[in-house]
Amino acid sequence: MGIGGVLLRRLAGAAFLPGAWLQSRFQGGIRILMYHRVSPAPVYDQLTVTPERFARQMEYLRRHCRILGLAQAVDELRSSEFVRSGIVVTFDDGYRDNLEFALPILRRFEIPATIFVTTAFCDQTARHPRYPESPERLHLDWHEVRELANTPGISIGSHTLTHPYLSRTTDTQASVEICSSKDRLASEVQGPVDYFCYPSGDVTEREQQMVQSAGYRAAVTVAPGVNACGVALHALRRTEITDRDGVVDLFMKVKGAYDPIHRLLHWRRRRSFAKAATAARLGVASGANK
Ligand SMILES: [Zn+2]
Repeated sequence: MGIGGVLLRRLAGAAFLPGAWLQSRFQGGIRILMYHRVSPAPVYDQLTVTPERFARQMEYLRRHCRILGLAQAVDELRSSEFVRSGIVVTFDDGYRDNLEFALPILRRFEIPATIFVTTAFCDQTARHPRYPESPERLHLDWHEVRELANTPGISIGSHTLTHPYLSRTTDTQASVEICSSKDRLASEVQGPVDYFCYPSGDVTEREQQMVQSAGYRAAVTVAPGVNACGVALHALRRTEITDRDGVVDLFMKVKGAYDPIHRLLHWRRRRSFAKAATAARLGVASGANK
């Protein structure tokens, strides 16, 4: 997004702000923030926030928001008729920089977080396809995952075994990705793994049912918006935060002023996921016929 795009987004956000403010005041609800990497980035990357920017964002949240861990948020969503506004911080994919750069900042501002790891990435047998070439080790190893799991305020969740587009997998493959990753993680961190994150936000009713049946308490998607009373706990909404988000943008996102724009983008993403899932199913069917 260029400078024109940033201004356009702010203008649209300003138009939606009064409605969003009223809604958050009367509806309350938990907004779950989605991060990936925190690292000094030589060029802009949508999944990477620089440590300086991340520190400013955490400072803003600490000053202006009620921050809670995912477990407490789920407790409140399950038990309260009205959930006060609150913010949860999450990270996807288990990047090594979460330990190196994000953790000291989270500790400085006493902000809890949940990190969703993919077991093959921790095994170092695969890496996120977005970064095929990086020379250094990209993902947390198991020793580092355990270190994070033992850090007060930090919890580890599952992001599958191999980070597939789940809706394109067979029932057996999806079940293995969802259930075996839970078991493997639980044995690695020597504790329960109660939360799941759908890779790339690709989720249908089938995966939601499987995640629930596997015993996860809740799961997060990339559907935008706030989580208020009555939300499906296995399809929690999240708001992506990037390096472009200064204090103004963070304020807009926390208040929900960018939700209408994000809903439109998400609708397009879901349409392309559905097309790809149909193509994958047709591919499996025609392969079976050969
Ligand atoms: Zn991911």
